[in-house]
Amino acid sequence: MYVVKFEDLNKSDIGIAGGKGANLGELTQAGIPVPPGFVVTAQAYEYFMDEAGINDKVMSILDAIDINDTKALQAAAEEIKKMIVEAPIPESLVLFIREFYNELCQRVGEDDTDVAIRSSATAEDLPEASFAGQQDTFLHVSGDDEVIEYIRKCWASLFEARAIFYREENNFEHSKVYIAVVVQKMANADKAGVMFTVNPSTGEEIALIEGSWGLGEAVVSGDVTPDNYQVDKKNNEIVNVTISDKKVMYTNDENGTSVKVDVPEDKRNARVLSDEELIELTEMGKRVQAHYGEPMDTEWAFEKDMLFLLQARPITTLGDVVEESEGEASDLGDVLVRGLGASPGMASGKVKIVLDIDELDKIEDGDIMVTTMTTPDMVPAMRRASGIVTDEGGVTCHASIISRELGIPCVVGTGDATTTLKENSGVTLDGKKGLVFEGISETKEEAPVAVAGAAAPIITVTEVKANVSMPEAAEKAAATGADGVGLLRTEHLMLTSGVHPYKFIMDGREDELIDTIADNVQIVADAFYPKPVWYRTLDAPTDEFITLEGGENEPREHNPMLGWRGIRRELDQPEILKCEFKAIKKLHEKGYTNIGIMIPLSQSPEELKQAKALCSEIGFEPHKDVDFGMMVEIPAAAIMIDEYIKVGIDFVSLGTNDLTQYTLAVDRNNEFVAKHYTEEHPAVMKLIERTIRKCAEAGVKCSICGQAGSVPHIVEKLVAFGISSVSSNTDAIADVRKTVARAEQKIILDAARKRLE
Ligand code: PEP
Ligand code: MG
Repeated sequence: MYVVKFEDLNKSDIGIAGGKGANLGELTQAGIPVPPGFVVTAQAYEYFMDEAGINDKVMSILDAIDINDTKALQAAAEEIKKMIVEAPIPESLVLFIREFYNELCQRVGEDDTDVAIRSSATAEDLPEASFAGQQDTFLHVSGDDEVIEYIRKCWASLFEARAIFYREENNFEHSKVYIAVVVQKMANADKAGVMFTVNPSTGEEIALIEGSWGLGEAVVSGDVTPDNYQVDKKNNEIVNVTISDKKVMYTNDENGTSVKVDVPEDKRNARVLSDEELIELTEMGKRVQAHYGEPMDTEWAFEKDMLFLLQARPITTLGDVVEESEGEASDLGDVLVRGLGASPGMASGKVKIVLDIDELDKIEDGDIMVTTMTTPDMVPAMRRASGIVTDEGGVTCHASIISRELGIPCVVGTGDATTTLKENSGVTLDGKKGLVFEGISETKEEAPVAVAGAAAPIITVTEVKANVSMPEAAEKAAATGADGVGLLRTEHLMLTSGVHPYKFIMDGREDELIDTIADNVQIVADAFYPKPVWYRTLDAPTDEFITLEGGENEPREHNPMLGWRGIRRELDQPEILKCEFKAIKKLHEKGYTNIGIMIPLSQSPEELKQAKALCSEIGFEPHKDVDFGMMVEIPAAAIMIDEYIKVGIDFVSLGTNDLTQYTLAVDRNNEFVAKHYTEEHPAVMKLIERTIRKCAEAGVKCSICGQAGSVPHIVEKLVAFGISSVSSNTDAIADVRKTVARAEQKIILDAARKRLE
C-alpha cells in the first residue's frame, strides 16, 4: 500500500506510516478530532528508491563518512539529497498521490486545499527515541504538483546531516530506516502549543500545557517562550498559570503562506488560554492517555473555538527525575540569569556562546553551551556540553526534549543569556530550578539518581516490581529500586527486530532467533541482577505481527484479541517456544539464574503441562532448573487455579488487562466499548481475590502485572487480599510503593487494635 488514509491506520502501523502517521491514524480511529489527511507510506519511499536505482550509491556514500567530521558529513548529506530530488518518481505513485489529494480537497470542500506535509520516519517516534525536530515539515502546501514536490523534499530530509548523525549515534541502520510522509489539512490555528498529559519531569498526574498565538510551529521550534499552564487532572484545578512575553508568532499572509510576524502589542503579554479551554484540553489529554494507556506528549491547536490534536506520542523521557545533590547551593555565586528548569541536574563549566552554526566547533567536552535556541544540527555539540542554556523556548522545546533525553542539565527561556553571560567565564547551572550561578561549583557533582531509588528506602513486605517491554528501558526501571521485573514482555523485542519469529524458523535461522532473544533479555537480567526477572513467552497477536518481514502469512482474524495468540499459538508453533526456552537456558548457563519463565493467556491446565514438557525436552527442567509460572488472564484459568496448582507452578501473575476484557466481553482495543472497561467491576475483582487467596493457601506466589497494578487505589485492595508482589509501570513505582507500605501498616494497625478491643 503506497498511500493510506488516516482512517485506515492505527498505532501498530509504524512500519507503514511511521510513528507520526500511525498515531494520527490511531487518534482518528479513536474519535479524537484530528484534521483529515493521508500518509504516503514507507513502502512508497522504498518503491521510489528502488525504481530510481540509487540505493547502493546512497549506502556507499554513508559507509565512507566519518560522522564527526562535520564538513564531510554536510557534503555527503547534500550529495544524497540532490540525488533524491533529481530522480524520477514512478508514474503509478504520482497518480495515487494526486487521487488521494483530490479526494481530500473534495472532502473539505476546497480546491487546492492547504496541507501540512510532515515526514514520519519508521524509526521515528518509537517510544525509546525522540527524533524531535529531526525531519522536515512544510506548511501551506497546495495543489497536487506542489504536494508531490514537497513529499520528495521529505524523502530527501531523511538524509539531512543531523538525521544521519542521529541514526549513527543511536545505532539505527540507515538502510532500515524508511520515511513515510504525512499529508494533512492545515489547521489555521489562532492559538496552539503542546501538552504533556503528565508532568514530564516528575511523572505527576498534572497536565502540563504550553501555548502561544498562531500556529504551533512557534512553540515547537522554540521561537517563542510560551505561556505555561498546569492543570491537576484529578479535579481539573488550574494549579499554575505563567504568562510570558510572546514576541513572535506564525500566521498566514494573504497568499496563505505561513510567515513569522511580531505579536500585536496588546496580545504580547495577554493570557493565551482561558480556564474553559484549559479544562477542555485537559479532558482531551485524559482521553488520549486512557486510550493509549500511557502518558502522552501531544500537539494541539484551537481554530476559532474548535480544538484539534495534531500529534500524539508516548512521552520518551519519563522518570528522568533527579534529586538535588546535598549542599548544592553552599558554594555558588550570584544568580546571573534565570529561566525555566528544562532538564534537571547541576552542571559547571566554561561558557561558550554559539550564535551561529559555524561556531559549534568551539564547544569542548564539559563546556556550557549558551545559545538563542538549539536546532537539530546542534545535537553533536550538545552531546559534548555539560549543560545548556538558551535565551528562548519552553520546557517542551527542542533544547528541552533533547537535553532531557541526553540527560544534560538545561535551562531555557532565559531571555538574555547570550548577552549577559561572558564567553569563557565559569558558571554553574541548576537545571531543575532554572538558574545560572556565577562560578564553578566546588561541590562534586553526583550522578543523577532516580527519585524512587534515592529517597529514604521504603521497605515493604509485598514486593514492588517493574514491567519492562524494551531492554533500553531496563536501566531506568532498575534505578527505581524495583524488586525485580514482574513482566518482561517479549513482543516488543520481536517487533523491533523487524523480522517475524516464524521467518527465522522457516529460514533455518533458529540460532539467530535464540541469540536475538538472549541478547535482549540479558540486558534486562543484567540491570536487575540478582533480582528476579520473569520472562513472558511470546504473546503475538496476528494483527500486530503482520507488518513484520515474513508477517504476510499471518491469518486475517475476525477478532485477534480472541484469536491466535498467547500459549495456544505457541503450542501450535512449538519451534518458536523451544527457541525461547533455549535462549533462557543459555542465559542461565551464563549465570543469569535470576530469570524465570511465565506463559501467557492459558485457558486449561493441559496447556501448562504441554509447555512444561517442551521445556524439559530441551534439557531445561521446570522448577528444578528454572522457576516456571503462568499468567492468569482468562476467567477459566482463575476459576481452575487449583487444577493448575496441581500440575505444578512456582508463581502466578494476574494479567488484568486481558482478564478484564474476557470477563466483561469488552475488547480492550475497541474504543466504542471503552467506557465499559473497568478492572474494578465486582466480577473481575472477585476473580482476582479468589486467585490470590487460592495461591496463598497453596503457598504459590501471586503477583499482578496488568495495568491495575499501577493504580494505587486498586493496589491497596490487592495488598489486603494478600498478594505477594505487584509489578507496575516504571513511572508508577514510587507511588505504588508508598501505597503498598500504607496498606501493610493499616493491616498491622487494624490487627493490633482488634487485639486491644
Ligand atoms: C495483561 O493482560 O494484563 C498483561 C499484562 O498482558 P498484556 O497487556 O501484554 O496483554
Ligand atoms: Mg495479557
